[in-house]
Amino acid sequence: MTDSPPGLYVHIPFCAKRCSYCDFYSEEKSSLVKKYFELLGAEAGSYSSLFREFGTLYLGGGTPSLPEAALIEGVIDALSRIFDFVPGRETTIEVNPDDITKEKARSYAAFGINRISVGIQSFDDAELTFLGRRHDSDTAVKAIDILRSEGFSNIGIDLIYGFHDHTEESWRRTLVRAVKFLPEHVSCYQMTVPVNTRMGDLLAEGKISEIPDDLQRRLFILTDKVLTENGYIHYEVSNFARGEEYISRHNTRYWDRTDYLGLGPSAHSYRSDCRWWNVSSVEEYCTLLEKGGDPVIGREELTQAQIDLEDLYLGFRTRKGAALSLIAQFVSGDRILGELAEDRLVSIQGEYAVPTLSGFLVADRLPLLFY
Ligand code: SF4
Repeated sequence: MTDSPPGLYVHIPFCAKRCSYCDFYSEEKSSLVKKYFELLGAEAGSYSSLFREFGTLYLGGGTPSLPEAALIEGVIDALSRIFDFVPGRETTIEVNPDDITKEKARSYAAFGINRISVGIQSFDDAELTFLGRRHDSDTAVKAIDILRSEGFSNIGIDLIYGFHDHTEESWRRTLVRAVKFLPEHVSCYQMTVPVNTRMGDLLAEGKISEIPDDLQRRLFILTDKVLTENGYIHYEVSNFARGEEYISRHNTRYWDRTDYLGLGPSAHSYRSDCRWWNVSSVEEYCTLLEKGGDPVIGREELTQAQIDLEDLYLGFRTRKGAALSLIAQFVSGDRILGELAEDRLVSIQGEYAVPTLSGFLVADRLPLLFY
């Protein structure tokens, strides 16, 4: 937990077409888009006494670049009337390449958006088709060119690896192509296939298969190699920044367990060791807010044991690592720490156990060893 001002997340739950691997909550066709944007202000207003000032604003999805830019402007204006933001706040929008036009990019810049996260996923057209993306590689290149020409100096590229038939050669080609654009940030997510997706169905029917663990491992190591050799800092398991100033300030709040408020269906919030989350339906969200109700459907108070385990889990996902004082609270922590250091999964740096590259590879399993 830190003293940083909280982060504000706004979920834009609309997509033109569902990608074959995605189980995030979003609607493909909805008549409620305009109403939804109006009601976001009502939900935000209900938090005006609990949250006062934010350090970051993140418009995520779904596909925030799908609705017309005026709706994005409207919601940013509404939020700015309700809350304060620190000067020079980081304001991020996630975009799909085929939504980016000069006009839209210019509008985003005029609204104060200073960080763009582009969902490119791959520079291979056959892979993009397999992933069910709307764009091809030429469209991705065009989107980056437009964003640069409209003055964006903090662009992130999102990529996916480790899916059916993926090879080291094709992943290297995508990574090498990505770094040629000198993006300030690169996120590389390892594919997991949720059951309730088109890809999940193909997997269940035996039409595709998951790639072997050994290849996943090699793809992860290749990711680190290509990006760090090109000057990127591997600061979180899946995230790389081309300098300290480009580390995602918003996402760092999740990893530091800093407070955050999430608005919109399925959004999660966290404050003072309490977590709560909203209903996962645009329709229900709108109906509840129109009636003056509350879209929150779940809430949990974290116990100290849960907080400690989360801190351990989140710490091992970042280059900061987990505090030795935290590890010392766990049974046999010292012995296990010695074994992890011997196996080169962590290195002891000052007051922290910092995951090595091999440690990052098994980051999600490390905390379980202490519990
Ligand atoms: S991956 Fe992104 S664009 Fe594709 S369906 Fe999921 S939220 Fe929508």
